[in-house]
Amino acid sequence: MIVVLKHGVSDEKKAQLIAWLQALGLRIHISDGEFQTVLGLIGDTTNVDMDLVESLEIVDSVKRVTEPFKCCNRKFHPDDMIVEIGDVKVGGGNFVMIAGPCSVESEEQIVKVAKAVKAAGAKLMRGGAFKPRTSPYDFAGLKAFGLDLLKIARQETGLPIVTELMNIMDLPLFEDVDVIQVGARNMQNYDLLRELGHLDKPILLKRGLANTLKELLMSAEYIMASGNERVMLCERGIRTFSDYTRNTLDLSAVPMLHQLTHLPVIVDPSHATGIAKLVPPMALAATASGADGLIIEVHNDPMHALCDGAQSLRPEEFTELAEKVRAIREVIA
Ligand code: PEP
Ligand code: MN
Repeated sequence: MIVVLKHGVSDEKKAQLIAWLQALGLRIHISDGEFQTVLGLIGDTTNVDMDLVESLEIVDSVKRVTEPFKCCNRKFHPDDMIVEIGDVKVGGGNFVMIAGPCSVESEEQIVKVAKAVKAAGAKLMRGGAFKPRTSPYDFAGLKAFGLDLLKIARQETGLPIVTELMNIMDLPLFEDVDVIQVGARNMQNYDLLRELGHLDKPILLKRGLANTLKELLMSAEYIMASGNERVMLCERGIRTFSDYTRNTLDLSAVPMLHQLTHLPVIVDPSHATGIAKLVPPMALAATASGADGLIIEVHNDPMHALCDGAQSLRPEEFTELAEKVRAIREVIA
């Protein structure tokens, strides 16, 4: 349920109403927008007398929120959420490019790529240290050493790090990571999501291979219900019968998610297509669709990449793409 307050209500009256609602056993989410204050009621609202609340002098309107997701529901927060990572802002008109290799392979590789993508305009760098691989015989990342190499690259470039956590047990190693990525395969690892909800750190939550938007939002809800509101969603392609691409990029997810939630939406055209040549056109389409950012795999030597070389752009290709992305942003602004 949401309670919209009248404009200019005093803090005292607002606090009285909130205390009364809390006494009914509800958690109250307060969204103080420029023009209105919205109280989001979380919990069992069956005992709340809607007519009584609506009749209060300070209340403008009361609405039931029928969706099962509450914390990430745009009805709770009419304004876009802006996620801050140091000086970098994502959402609410702030567009971000995240780029880097699929996996961290060596100091030379990650530093080289980080410098190149920074020069091209990326504001965050990506790089997997713990890699979920379909085959147990494939390179699974440099693990803790990979995180150390990411920190070296951050020191050299100033770019904050986005990297995937697969297992709660490894969480202590991620203390100094800037953004924790939850991979597609872990989107419904509810124990992991709950644990990330206790952190004061932004989370990049990728859509599962065969998950609906509602399921994606329910996973965001797990993180947010535990207290961490700094969630960014990522559309990275879903499984369909399309045969020539790794996945199908569901770009309609971008405007649909913007309608349903206030959280930023990032698009990953690399995993969505699996083919480097298709990454620039789909990145531009994603930008035009209103995405709040892109996450793109870039490798200095794709032919010899230990993971996802076929979908990785070379630094010069990323530079060219980043310029076109900026042009699209200007057109849709
Ligand atoms: C990745 O970002 O490297 C990755 C494994 O992505 P996804 O979880 O979307 O497959
Ligand atoms: Mn990858």
